[in-house]
Amino acid sequence: MHGCVRSPVLRLIGVFVAAHLVLACAIGRPEGPAGAPQPSEPPASLAPGKQEDGTMTIDEFERDANAAVAVAERYWSARFANSGQRFVPIRRVITYEEAGEVTCGREPLPANNAAYCPDGDFIAYDVDWAVVAFRRVGDAFLFYLLGHEYAHAIQVRLGINYRYTIQQELQADCLAGAYIGDSVRGGSLTLDNGDLDEFRSGLLAVGDDPDQPWFAPGAHGSAEQRTEAFFDGYERSVNACLS
Ligand SMILES: [Zn+2]
Repeated sequence: MHGCVRSPVLRLIGVFVAAHLVLACAIGRPEGPAGAPQPSEPPASLAPGKQEDGTMTIDEFERDANAAVAVAERYWSARFANSGQRFVPIRRVITYEEAGEVTCGREPLPANNAAYCPDGDFIAYDVDWAVVAFRRVGDAFLFYLLGHEYAHAIQVRLGINYRYTIQQELQADCLAGAYIGDSVRGGSLTLDNGDLDEFRSGLLAVGDDPDQPWFAPGAHGSAEQRTEAFFDGYERSVNACLS
């Protein structure tokens, strides 16, 4: 228990990035491959895209989730190519609806969560929960969430394995910031008014409980640390994350 009061929305976000360690099976991605979009494709937009009644549709959710993964893949593919390294995209994105429906290694994935699973090289997330979060928080957070999970796949490809969870997590936040910032600057992603605020409020909400020791196995960092890490990457690109 902790003393701070969080709105249901923010609590939801807190759960979002709470656990994503390990986790192999297949239920199919929202749709389509995560391959690089065609050059003629317009930039992915973080536009809210609300209907007249204010809700965002499942179609919009799927489009944004696919776009988030496609933009991340295109970004990291280019970064690796610039370094003369071969890039292998993650194998798949899996959605699930029940706790334990997907496992990573032998560990069942819980409801209300998202994870990158090194054993199987996939990202999986609870789709019902993610749709709720998408509608409540906004699409920017979906790009952050999938960017953060994709960053864990990048860490595996680069052989980065920190001693403490918090180091691994803050770097993933930073790399998520780098992919989004660079993609905006490069024109493959456009931000709308309010998107940066969505990132800020989302990151403030995913900070660890202040009483949690930084060296705890599940530690991700305080709200301040996570915000700083994300915007460090957003503003200064990947080099800010690898120092
Ligand atoms: Zn993480």
